[in-house]
Amino acid sequence: MSRPFELDPVFRGLTTLPGVGPKNGKLLEKLLGGAKVLDLLHHKPADFVDRRFSPKISDAPDGKIATLEVQIMQHKPAARRGLPTKVIATDGTGSITLIFFNMGADWFAKQLPINETRIISGKVENYQGQKQMIHPDAIGKVEERATIETIEPIYPLTAGVTNKTLRKAIKGALSTMPKLAEWDDAAFLKQQGWSSWHDSIKMLHDPEDESGLLPTHPARQRLAYDELLANQLSLALVRLHQRKQNGRAWVNNGTMRQKILSTLPFDLTGAQKRCLEEIDADMREPLKMLRLVQGDVGSGKTIVAACAMMNVIECGAQAAIMAPTEILARQHEESFAPWLDAAGISYITLTGRNKGKEREKIYQQIADGSAQVVIGTHALFQDSVIFKELGLAVIDEQHRFGVHQRLALSQKTKGTDVLVMTATPIPRTLTLTAYGDMEVSRIDEKPPGRKPVDTRLLPKEKVDSMIDAIDRQIKTGARVYWVCPLVEDSEVLDLQAAEARFDILQERYGDQVGLIHGRLKADEKDAVMSAFARGDKKILVATTVIEVGVNVPEANIMVIEQAERFGLAQLHQLRGRVGRGAEKSFCFLVYAEGLSQTAKERLTIMRETEDGFIIAEKDLELRGGGEILGTRQSGLPTFKLADLNAHGDLLAAARDDTKLILSKDENLETERGIALKTLLYLFEQDQAIKRLQAG
Ligand code: ADP
Ligand code: MG
Repeated sequence: MSRPFELDPVFRGLTTLPGVGPKNGKLLEKLLGGAKVLDLLHHKPADFVDRRFSPKISDAPDGKIATLEVQIMQHKPAARRGLPTKVIATDGTGSITLIFFNMGADWFAKQLPINETRIISGKVENYQGQKQMIHPDAIGKVEERATIETIEPIYPLTAGVTNKTLRKAIKGALSTMPKLAEWDDAAFLKQQGWSSWHDSIKMLHDPEDESGLLPTHPARQRLAYDELLANQLSLALVRLHQRKQNGRAWVNNGTMRQKILSTLPFDLTGAQKRCLEEIDADMREPLKMLRLVQGDVGSGKTIVAACAMMNVIECGAQAAIMAPTEILARQHEESFAPWLDAAGISYITLTGRNKGKEREKIYQQIADGSAQVVIGTHALFQDSVIFKELGLAVIDEQHRFGVHQRLALSQKTKGTDVLVMTATPIPRTLTLTAYGDMEVSRIDEKPPGRKPVDTRLLPKEKVDSMIDAIDRQIKTGARVYWVCPLVEDSEVLDLQAAEARFDILQERYGDQVGLIHGRLKADEKDAVMSAFARGDKKILVATTVIEVGVNVPEANIMVIEQAERFGLAQLHQLRGRVGRGAEKSFCFLVYAEGLSQTAKERLTIMRETEDGFIIAEKDLELRGGGEILGTRQSGLPTFKLADLNAHGDLLAAARDDTKLILSKDENLETERGIALKTLLYLFEQDQAIKRLQAG
């Protein structure tokens, strides 16, 4: 089955719409984050102007938007460049001066011919006893009155695209929009007071008053629900498909695990134990495990992963752990080595760095099973890597991999138990959208003895004096991470900012300063990183490549420049790099001047708590429906119509609805099921549809 043809009109390119050419088409595409008509239909108005107020000139109040019917009396051309052209108009009750800058005489002759009647709309102002209107928003002939005297939605715009252009294009899109078979339950629709998809999209673009802009408006609710239902349904379909695959029951008596645990200088925390019990219960079942372990940075996920691996190793199968970066894979190798050596388990590491013959040899050891544990990056999940019997795949910091890689991975791991681990504290509602009904374990307790990080907000002007303070610290053995801001979407610019800071610090500290960024080759990164870990370098200037996982207990100062540009979850992760050793730790959040109140509040949360889950919930609350820098990297789905803060209850409803639907019609073959397939296409949940087709 391919996309239903009814959807064609909304999947056409934007340039098929009136007033959209190649040039503003590109601009629109950037604004909307998509090049389809549908992307435009999903662009919500943020405000509106009410042009229905239509007084006589004498009654038009100062400062109010009014639509007037006037007769054009006189053109008064600009006396010289830079001065406006004035047009005098009357309606029998008084006169108004229309003021225009930079318009040619031809334009006036055509748009506002003398003695003709025109409808004009805009803000009326009193200026020295005379009414005036600067650049009316709309001008039309009398017969166009109905199109002007309306409520005009105002959209978020981008330079080069006017609201008028956008409105025209949206009108065009609305006129070709199809009517689709209803996918929502009729009784539910009635109970909610919602209209059809078609009518709801129309209402979205036709707010009648303030309520039309609120997330509580029935049209906005319905459309949010559609989006959430598509999300939940697609996750559930993928999950259903996976659950059908049988796994192996990993029955063992835990001797391998015991060998590892006996090497540790500490006991597992209660949370780690609880998490392992949940994992063990899954793994004893002959079904495929798909479990998410959420645990703050430093909560001790690595040892949990190693213990889980022992379940399959003891049964003679292999286990793998995949990290998002080379650095992290190497770090895992270091952590695992003493544990696995103690238990007499063979292991191997595979990353992009292994080339040629060496790589072939690694493949061989994976294929013949002589490598019991395999550590690596996504290189592990390429087609050429074939395991003898992969019993458990652990995906670390999996939010960095993105939904698509995750799905590709689930293909690779048919019948394999999967444990995903993330340090990104995700609010509960978001967990639902990202993982559907995947099982979740939380490690919500840190190993004992962690010292709180002294977190301070610092205006940019004070950076120099902070460098002085750091100088004293370094002399007594401190080690500093210095993270440079995300600039735009550009790796090149990120790098420039980091290099500039590196130069400044190097002037003072010479070769004690290292620089690490995404453009370095893997071995170059390793070299810098290990120089920092050894203490040969005292300051490590970095772009966000150090974001996840890296463990240097001696590092006790974290500086984050332009902290306001990071998501709170990211800041939290970065801060988690320090506070791991014996020394007191600091985190300086450097901000630029002119910070908004909300931005300040967000940073203040960082000062108030180190609990990642609280930080995540607060962040969601504060940023509301707005975009946040850093979500791009989070791997979480982003919604255009749903606002998880306002529509959390709809998400829960969509989840329940999904369960009900799939319990009765898991291949979506009933009449409603077929309509739901259209919904999946509408929200481009192609992966889920593929699963359906695979059966
Ligand atoms: P993360 O959850 O961020 O991956 P790690 O697994 O890297 O955390 O653990 C961070 C540090 O805490 C490591 O040095 C690890 O040895 C240590 N650790 C883990 N569990 C415990 C525990 N129960 N008690 C004390 N230290 C622990
Ligand atoms: Mg980790």
